[in-house]
Amino acid sequence: MAIDHTYKLAGIMGWPVGHSRSPVIHNHWIAQHGLQGAYVKLAVQPTQLATALRGLPALGFAGCNLTIPHKVAAMALVDHLEPLAQRIGAVNTIVVGADGSLTGRNTDAYGFIQSLRDAQPGWRADAGPATVIGAGGAARAVLAGLLDSGAVEVRLTNRSAAKAQELAQEFGKHVHAVPWAQRHEALAGAALLVNTTNQGMQGEPALDLKLDLLPSTALVSDAIYVPLETPLLTAARQRGNATVNGLGMLLNQARPAFEAWFGVLPDITPDLLARVQATF
Ligand code: NAP
Repeated sequence: MAIDHTYKLAGIMGWPVGHSRSPVIHNHWIAQHGLQGAYVKLAVQPTQLATALRGLPALGFAGCNLTIPHKVAAMALVDHLEPLAQRIGAVNTIVVGADGSLTGRNTDAYGFIQSLRDAQPGWRADAGPATVIGAGGAARAVLAGLLDSGAVEVRLTNRSAAKAQELAQEFGKHVHAVPWAQRHEALAGAALLVNTTNQGMQGEPALDLKLDLLPSTALVSDAIYVPLETPLLTAARQRGNATVNGLGMLLNQARPAFEAWFGVLPDITPDLLARVQATF
């Protein structure tokens, strides 16, 4: 029997992985473009990550996405690590090469920036100061995205001050750490506010942040997508700010990954958006 080389597999590797919306997104695109393949959930325990990754070429996978808790551990397990993934300190996409080698990429920074551009086509990173709340994995991708897009002043504030200071040092002169107690004042004159903490997520309290000093022209973005509108975004919308939820980042990080595996850069159509929103 002939092997069907046109059939491609991809998937999301995580532990747990049941909550992921990525299969809905990628399988929609596979069907839309008439491709032969499937995107599956891969529940892989942390102790099995290396074995699972090495098995991808033999199983006919074009690659996979990685989610909690594998994004950092995978950095040491790939054959090639793209500089952006190195800088962000996490791999969210693995691409299997023709020779079976594994390349680690990070598409979260692209996803974040593109989500802002989708919301405001004329958005510019150098339009004014950006205030970023949080200093975890999502913050690292947001910082890389903002700086690579030309941001000149990023105010970074985090509950644990040392982490904000470390990130500010690591990402260079355009990033300034602001003490957590001064986060409300760090909104004065900002053109962009980004929440990268888990505060406002389903099951978590709202982010403790007073928006009084934020200009009404500022764009407000939240990396969280469960719920789609966090208390921060509700408050921002009610005072007249334009808002962007985390679904835009999730959908946009998926696009270059899909392109790397299936050879087509897919679009975020109203159809896809409705399909993903229906899962909430
Ligand atoms: P993480 O690395 O664990 O970082 C969590 C951040 O939240 C840290 O800065 C932490 O501050 C802060 N935090 C936790 N509890 C807090 C509290 N009570 N008060 C103030 N700050 C608090 O997590 P992550 O991977 O960056 O993810 C963060 C959020 O982004 C999650 O909601 C995740 O779902 C979302 N996300 C979305 C996308 C997307 O595609 N839309 C992608 C990645 C992540 P400390 O340092 O003080 O602990």
